[in-house]
Amino acid sequence: MTIRGDSSATGVNADATAAAARVRGWLAGARRCLVLTGAGMSAESGIAPFRGGDQALWARFDPARLATPEAFAADPDLVWAWYLWRMAGVRAALPHAGHRALAALAGGHPHLQLVTQNVDDLHERAGSAGVVHLHGELFALRCAACAAPAALPALPAAGQAPALRQPPPRCRRCGGAVRPGVVWFGEALPAPAWQAAEAAARSCDLVLVVGTSGLVHPAAALPAIARRHGARVVEINPSPTALSGAADLCWRATAAQALPLLTDASAKPGG
Ligand code: NAD
Ligand code: ZN
Repeated sequence: MTIRGDSSATGVNADATAAAARVRGWLAGARRCLVLTGAGMSAESGIAPFRGGDQALWARFDPARLATPEAFAADPDLVWAWYLWRMAGVRAALPHAGHRALAALAGGHPHLQLVTQNVDDLHERAGSAGVVHLHGELFALRCAACAAPAALPALPAAGQAPALRQPPPRCRRCGGAVRPGVVWFGEALPAPAWQAAEAAARSCDLVLVVGTSGLVHPAAALPAIARRHGARVVEINPSPTALSGAADLCWRATAAQALPLLTDASAKPGG
């Protein structure tokens, strides 16, 4: 995956009630729907995104030092310690109402494909099945040398100050260093995940883009692929992004605010 420059543009803004009504109508009429989530999806669960705000991970750390194969080769203990800290943070986090709403939406829509750039497991823990993880999964540890799967080690307790250095566990098969199951900058996406995501983009009528800056490619190309094939694009994000200009509707709200308004439960009186 690679990062491209920001070319933010503001699309059509909409207030919450009007936006919810329009998107619900589009969802009801869509034969196939793609939901693409990014780090902003997990922000209200307490997992910092990479961009946007002082709490964003990359505002405090340099990704070039921590999320590349070169960084791991050069300083495995630093990179492993950082990932241990991230894994502990994800373990301690809980899915929010937006995650649950997406699981409920998929339950009522036979052809909704959830594609995430997130490496956490909050969609699954909220009840979503068949989630496509474009950038891998934090807990799917494997050997950096032979790719054998590896067991999860004990994680630091939530709130415990992270160690700055920690040697990665060794592979039981070949003795190589164990690495997280994520796609690092400069690495290719897992082919089956990308193929599933691209197929969903080509065949859907509606895309909901939630909490992504649209700067990490090729994931950021999915809404444009869908649009070229005739789909409507809805962006749910409190801030404008590189994708806003190509959205049919920009809903300036957070994931936990907006997504619950799209479920059947929200349509019931008093719901
Ligand atoms: P990003 O950090 O580049 O952008 C986050 C986006 O989310 C921003 O546009 C921001 O405005 C928006 N946002 C912030 N709070 C939000 C909220 N409450 N609701 C909705 N939107 C909100 O994230 P990205 O586009 O996903 O790309 C960066 C890479 O970061 C991805 O490859 C992903 O793998 C990785 N990442 C994953 C996690 C995770 O798994 N939880 C966390 C950090 C980064
Ligand atoms: Zn190995």
